[in-house]
Amino acid sequence: MIVNLERRKQQQDTMGSDPMSALSSTKPTPIPTQEQDEQDSPSSKALLSFSTDSSLSLSSSPSPSSCSQKALFIILILTTCVALSASFAFAFLFFSSKPLPPNPSPTHTPSLLSRPLTKLKRPVVILVSSDGFRFGYQFKTPTPHISRLISNGTEAETGLIPVFPSLTFPNHYSIATGLYPAFHGIINNRFKDPLSGQEFYMGSHDPKWWLGEPLWETVVKNGLKAATYFWPGSEVNKGPWTCPLSYCMHYNASVSFEDRVDAVLGYFDLPSDQIPDFMTLYFEDPDHQGHKVGADDPQITQAVARIDSMMGRLIKGLEERGVFEDVSVIMVGDHGMVGTCDKKLIFLDDLAPWVDVNVDWVVTHTPVLAVRPPSGYDPKEVVAKMNEGLRSGKVENGKFLRVYLKEDLPSRLHYSASDRIAPIIGLIEEGFKVEQKRTKRQECGGSHGYDNAVFSMRTIFIGHGPQFARGRKIPSFENVEIYNLIISILKIKGAPNNGSASFAQSVLLPAA
Ligand SMILES: [Zn+2]
Repeated sequence: MIVNLERRKQQQDTMGSDPMSALSSTKPTPIPTQEQDEQDSPSSKALLSFSTDSSLSLSSSPSPSSCSQKALFIILILTTCVALSASFAFAFLFFSSKPLPPNPSPTHTPSLLSRPLTKLKRPVVILVSSDGFRFGYQFKTPTPHISRLISNGTEAETGLIPVFPSLTFPNHYSIATGLYPAFHGIINNRFKDPLSGQEFYMGSHDPKWWLGEPLWETVVKNGLKAATYFWPGSEVNKGPWTCPLSYCMHYNASVSFEDRVDAVLGYFDLPSDQIPDFMTLYFEDPDHQGHKVGADDPQITQAVARIDSMMGRLIKGLEERGVFEDVSVIMVGDHGMVGTCDKKLIFLDDLAPWVDVNVDWVVTHTPVLAVRPPSGYDPKEVVAKMNEGLRSGKVENGKFLRVYLKEDLPSRLHYSASDRIAPIIGLIEEGFKVEQKRTKRQECGGSHGYDNAVFSMRTIFIGHGPQFARGRKIPSFENVEIYNLIISILKIKGAPNNGSASFAQSVLLPAA
């Protein structure tokens, strides 16, 4: 079973890389010219070696007459001329076929140093989240404004990796704190504190739930200004951050995207010392549509086009104020999306012959199965019985769920170091769902929350601004790195976190 799971993972990885290679093949890449170089080199080498060999053979062989020597000399001269002209021709071809930079226009010329601010007095970061913007959505439809940010900025070439579980609240708060959910406390969109018995839900603003130090708190601690136009956790009072009126919007899904963008732009009309140094901007789309219709539907295409137009509105507004090139715009998503149709369901009641997983034990069914058996039950025994049933071949789709004691989960998930995480965690294969019992409900749509190694859970990362190289592609990375990236742009001191100290330095251009 383990082998099967691993094989499936490998298949997923391969499947994940296929669309990428297909996509990248539509972009200008240096591959053809490299092939051209390879074709060129051996032939030019062959010509040169022919010339060398003939001259060697000539010098080493005695000549019977001066006439034949002359003839040979002429042949040698001719051969040398042919070889030399061929060499020049191939040298020309070689240099003229060098891979072009990704963006050959003058504005895309790579710079080794960060570009100086022209209007703003200090660096400003706008962190934009498009919820559920799966990596690859940018190819569904023309996205001229997002493309502009990509071609003039730095992009995670194969997407941004969410933290596990690939859910909205854990991921937005990981982006804001640089911490894995086990450390920032928001381990799911909904969970129960085992000590107090109290339940966390997405509207919980009590600071006791929200651990770590989010960016808005760090910014204020450093004597700078922050403004949040929606972000999970931003309404929570933390340290010097008190969610101040007019700099901290209370979540209201009915506010139009246009109003959100315009409000952020409005901050740039303030006197320079009042412009927030860090701002967030949040859009619910295309997650909103993805849950209803899955990742591949015209509704998603429309939602992506709308998000692109909002990015266009933001860019235009910044340009009108003369600050677009000064502001660092970081566009991210929190996770991807995958279709959940085709009756990919696993029912816990089917495990009854092995163990009765009572509905009251289950904290969340899907896409992360979290089970907290009452005292008197040994979690280890429950895990063993559940896996026995799932692997028996008698439970429908059982092989697509594997249950772990949380401390036995793969360490790459970083999902055990919190009492809030239930003792038993089930990893569900991409696109499957766990339910308690069979119902007549026919649910078909999209979901996320799965293992963050699954490619469909990836989202986007684009950085555009004075410290981002133009047209640069960087390898995929986990979103816990973004905290350090932003404090580095703002030149402020951050709180300890799970990001790596060297990441910002490896991505950002050094100071001019
Ligand atoms: Zn989300």
